[in-house]
Amino acid sequence: MNNNSEKVKEYHKSYYQENKQAYLDREEKKKLDPVWRRARSEQRKAAEKKSGKYWARRKYGDLIARKLTVEDKKCQVCGELDGTQFHHVDYLEPLFGYHLCIKHHREAHKDPGMLMNIKAKDYGQSQ
Ligand SMILES: [Zn+2]
Ligand SMILES: [Zn+2]
Repeated sequence: MNNNSEKVKEYHKSYYQENKQAYLDREEKKKLDPVWRRARSEQRKAAEKKSGKYWARRKYGDLIARKLTVEDKKCQVCGELDGTQFHHVDYLEPLFGYHLCIKHHREAHKDPGMLMNIKAKDYGQSQ
């Protein structure tokens, strides 16, 4: 009897592990599927729209990006010129924030305090 229930336990354990692996494999494959990727990016866009982030980005992009030179947009932390992004302090103020390279933008989201001694750009006032 005892022996048997041990076996049953073992069976369940390995069944679970196999399924977990199959599940992970499926998840990995899903990421390669363009249909799934598109669906996920649509989901993200919808979430951003809701949060106001999308609107802030659009507004910033429309009004400012074209007028700024590469030099204007350089990372305010390290001076990187390539592929910088605008970090919004508050999405309700889409023209107020920092130009940051991808690396420092990521860091700024983890540790907003790192921007404390750097002056934010305020493009709202010159409009
Ligand atoms: Zn940087
Ligand atoms: Zn940001």
